[in-house]
Amino acid sequence: MPNYDVIVIGAGPAGLMAAGQAAAKGKKVLLLEKMQSPGRKLLLTGKHRCNLTNTAPVQNALTHFNPGGRFLTQLFYRFFADELREFFAQLGVPTVVQRGGRVFPTSEKARDVLEALVTWNRQNGVDLFTESAVLELKIQNEKIHSVITGKQTYSTNAVILATGGKAYPGTGSTGDGYSFARQAGHTIIPPHPALVPLVAAGDIPQKLQGLSLKNISASVWINQKKSTQLFGELMFTHFGLSGPVILALSRQIVASLQRGNQIEIVIDLKPALDHNTLDARLLRDIQALGRKQFSSLLEGLLPKKIIPICCEQTSIPREKKISQLSGAERKHLRAWLKDNFRFLITSHQGFDQAIITAGGVYTSEVYPETMESKLIQGLFFAGEILDVDADTGGYNLQAAFSTGWAAGLAAAAPQ
Ligand SMILES: Cc1cc2nc3c(=O)[nH]c(=O)nc-3n(C[C@H](O)[C@H](O)[C@H](O)COP(=O)(O)OP(=O)(O)OC[C@H]3O[C@@H](n4cnc5c(N)ncnc54)[C@H](O)[C@@H]3O)c2cc1C
Repeated sequence: MPNYDVIVIGAGPAGLMAAGQAAAKGKKVLLLEKMQSPGRKLLLTGKHRCNLTNTAPVQNALTHFNPGGRFLTQLFYRFFADELREFFAQLGVPTVVQRGGRVFPTSEKARDVLEALVTWNRQNGVDLFTESAVLELKIQNEKIHSVITGKQTYSTNAVILATGGKAYPGTGSTGDGYSFARQAGHTIIPPHPALVPLVAAGDIPQKLQGLSLKNISASVWINQKKSTQLFGELMFTHFGLSGPVILALSRQIVASLQRGNQIEIVIDLKPALDHNTLDARLLRDIQALGRKQFSSLLEGLLPKKIIPICCEQTSIPREKKISQLSGAERKHLRAWLKDNFRFLITSHQGFDQAIITAGGVYTSEVYPETMESKLIQGLFFAGEILDVDADTGGYNLQAAFSTGWAAGLAAAAPQ
């Protein structure tokens, strides 16, 4: 049976980082990937541009994680954005900071990031085997013993599980690692899709399909009580709502739907104007456009596609002369623009549309400095398999790289 010092399962960002680090410490490392090529998901990141981290200070970055993210605090103070950018610079991938502190490779090509990682692994002597799905981990006397693929059994004292979550399963991330971890005795926080588009009732999303609204505010109403509010961009799809603001709100909404709550999203189309300022603006427009139709007033306020919906929901006919609008109708319009453009959320899309998986290996059973299991000697975790997930902005990849870095170094340390 071939023997390796360290076996890493899954060649995503976490596994590539872990394997390369362990090999750089002189260990004989095997990296097993079930797909035909490594890093399938990494290639999709940031719309193929790869938003690999964020320049936010660590304390601030941690606020973008689920509560499980606190587990990363110490680690992020050892290896965060500066260290990651320096690491990639040394691999010949300089990076650039864009809006909101988002860091990308200067080439804006995810492929450059992947190729650099794979080359670095090979230069360090890692054996990277693709089309090698791991089927089982053998554990004896609470210690790692061997790893079994469909082709071969390998003996080892150290395994790093970097199989990712369940999001975008077409990239190979089908949640296999959860069953390996469970068999090893670990608790798995039930995985659910996060950063995921939402399904809304009614036919309005379908009518507005493809329309993107920039600079709106979306607020979440849970059982008729206003909760979180976010500014940014939203998109309508044939099934409901998507876009950065919706993805960011989705973690809270998915959890809340699972608790059986009634969820509405309310879109404020004029977040920069309070009610009084908007009213003054409407009065000015009404005076200026008096002889025209109501739809002309709306043209100055809304994208064309929404106008019929506004007329329908406010019950103000589009042909009505602007000069004939009553005070009550003006008030009604103002309220619609700010508070009454509402969508009942019935569900969310599944793992195939989710950017990330919430849930996973319970972090209290893992040492935060080394990523080693507290239950099984020689078993380490890295990346999305852990119960750690974050907003968009580069935080998820940073978590994968940081945990991969720590696990790789620790697995290579003398046992
Ligand atoms: C469309 C999209 C865009 C994204 N954009 C960004 C972004 O710009 N910035 C950001 O921070 N995050 C982004 N993310 C999230 C980010 O991609 C993930 O957080 C990250 O890839 C997790 O890395 P990982 O190595 O833990 O897992 P993965 O990337 O999922 O890799 C796991 C690997 O393990 C392999 N594997 C699974 N089971 C087995 C098995 N049994 N045997 C062998 N191999 C196995 C899989 O094939 C896969 O290659 C995006 C995600 C998606 C879906």
